[in-house]
Amino acid sequence: MIMIANAKCQHCGNVFETDGMNKTEFCPHCGKETFIVGQAFDPAPANTAAALKQIREQTCYKTLRELIGVVQILFFIAAGLAGLGVTGNFLELGQVASSIGGILLAVIIGLVSAFILIVLGIAWKQAALLLVDIADCQIRLAGNTASR
Ligand SMILES: [Zn+2]
Repeated sequence: MIMIANAKCQHCGNVFETDGMNKTEFCPHCGKETFIVGQAFDPAPANTAAALKQIREQTCYKTLRELIGVVQILFFIAAGLAGLGVTGNFLELGQVASSIGGILLAVIIGLVSAFILIVLGIAWKQAALLLVDIADCQIRLAGNTASR
């Protein structure tokens, strides 16, 4: 694999592409020899994202990953029910107290409950997927070592 890097000429400041293998190159703009400085390889996040995508496509834990998604949906459903339920309960109390403050408090508590459950659901999925990713990586590494 050839890594394409951007090199900046020390003399004219023009940027040109290099394979990044040499410490000096002749600048295509001014023709002078320049040290390869300020080179920027392909950004790591893209490679990391591609690697992660590959790991998740070739996972050994397909069912587990699907289950993690299902559990997250359950969290969201619970968030909806909690939001409605808590709001409903407190609305009744609020109506008994017949104050606008009580009703407002009921809505706020309901929304906060729902919000906490949604955040928990998102955090759950990220944490769970992280663990499965680590497990898949370990298996891939073990497989690479074994095939050598
Ligand atoms: Zn130059």
